[in-house]
Amino acid sequence: MRQIFEPYEATKYSDWSDPELQKSFRETLREVEGQLGQDYPLVIGGEKITTDTFITSVDPGKTDRVVGRAAAGKAEHIEMAFEAAQEAFQEWKNWPMHDRARLLVRLAAVMRRRKRELAAWEVFEAAKNYLEAEADVAEAIDFCEYYARQSLKLADYVETHPFPGEENSTFYQPIGTGVVIPPWNFLLAILTGTVVGPVVVGNTVIVKPSPSTPIIAYKFMELVEEAGFPPGVINLLTGEDADLGDALVDDPRTRFINFTGSRATGERIIERASKVQPRQKYLKKVMAEMGGKDALIVDETADLDVAVEAAVAGAFGFQGQKCSAMSRLIVVDEVYDEMVGRFVEETRKLSVGPAEEDHNVAAVINEKQFNKIIDYIRKGKEEGGKVLLGGSEEAAAEGGYYIEPTIFGDVEPNATIAQEEIFGPVVAVIRARDFDHALEIANDTDYALTGGLISRSRERIMQATRDFEVGNLYINRKITGSLVGIQPFGGTRFSGTNSKAGGPDYLRLFMEAKTITERF
Ligand code: NAD
Repeated sequence: MRQIFEPYEATKYSDWSDPELQKSFRETLREVEGQLGQDYPLVIGGEKITTDTFITSVDPGKTDRVVGRAAAGKAEHIEMAFEAAQEAFQEWKNWPMHDRARLLVRLAAVMRRRKRELAAWEVFEAAKNYLEAEADVAEAIDFCEYYARQSLKLADYVETHPFPGEENSTFYQPIGTGVVIPPWNFLLAILTGTVVGPVVVGNTVIVKPSPSTPIIAYKFMELVEEAGFPPGVINLLTGEDADLGDALVDDPRTRFINFTGSRATGERIIERASKVQPRQKYLKKVMAEMGGKDALIVDETADLDVAVEAAVAGAFGFQGQKCSAMSRLIVVDEVYDEMVGRFVEETRKLSVGPAEEDHNVAAVINEKQFNKIIDYIRKGKEEGGKVLLGGSEEAAAEGGYYIEPTIFGDVEPNATIAQEEIFGPVVAVIRARDFDHALEIANDTDYALTGGLISRSRERIMQATRDFEVGNLYINRKITGSLVGIQPFGGTRFSGTNSKAGGPDYLRLFMEAKTITERF
């Protein structure tokens, strides 16, 4: 195939220990701070639609600071959005794949030019510290660049066997208008990836972001406009879940749903989408990437320096609010005391405070999540977990939803905090008799998203590769931070439908194959 773009390469992160970089980013933060508190419309068919009611996005780290107010879409806007998306589909589906791919490359270029500013919005809207914010924007850029290149592979006929006297050809075509429902935690990256994946292969979408992070979603639409996407290809409906969630899922015009979020919402969507509605013409396709209860195993052969670093970064990066976050640390008895002691001491060094000041651990996303995490801390104590660090049921800093890093030791493998997704800076440390026991514990949850092993034993690494039931297994490193095009991402069991975002199979999910046979 002729290369029209330079080869894909994942975006590199900056060195945030550089004081000059810190200083100049703080200036960007001040510029963006000056733009906080504005109102934002819906974007349907390229038109900006204002509404009478709004949802308010607040800074989780400074709850009296309004990041912005986003229009609250209602039933009439759902109508408008479907009309616009379905109309746009009629032309967009016929664009050559290369031309759609070019728009993604252009979108990536626009994002790259505004990278700092976008990262600054993330600091305010999601309380990401500087590196986490930059990494999220980098991932969004990478999704555009990677899917642009991958789409070209699907433009060709599929290889089939010839048959005398006939021409047989099989090709892929887009499926139609879909609904994209991303979470708040990778507010730009997942939104971008789950939108541009289906779009590049010719589908049109309505994106309904999380009510916790609607402003970055509007910023995304600014980029889409600047990149030159035709109106109606990507439509933004912000608003309350109660008004939009079920209605979009149930709508007979919804051809597919590209969801990332919690298990509860994912299961609800899968169930509702499977019910055929009056006037529905297709079965709905659901891609649902859901939660995790991810474990890192440390065996007695492990390099404990590597293990401690992997555990701290995996557990507390972005306050543990990653689907891939290490929420269980399973340590074999022989090295338990040393490993856990060092893990606690390293975690103690983490600073807790505003993302704006680039603390290691900033605020969690909202009040509901804050209360949920505190409830789990309480439950952890009630069920007999030993608090080794943190454990306070009060906010760890003034003005926002701050929770101190909390580590429970000697947690029973079947305890609530060792089984349910907490999605905060809380770790359950579990003692295993030996490696086999550790693997057994690791596999004994409903989830199977990421996992990790720190070990020097080739035999154990081979065993984990075979028997650790996860979608993404990391050996001798942290279990978060997958890179687009390098570590295709997605779990199995109740962690989701394994759509492997950022992988070579992803775009195929949003296409169907058609076969033509002509006899001469
Ligand atoms: P959530 O399930 O509360 O919300 C996800 C999205 O669904 C949001 O846009 C929300 O507004 C929407 N929603 C809520 N109710 C709905 C309904 N009835 N119908 C349709 N949409 C509805 O999840 P969250 O709190 O935003 O995100 C955190 C969760 O996402 C965690 O469980 C995390 O593990 C998971 N996650 C998974 C992955 C992955 O790739 N597997 C990646 C990131 C996050």
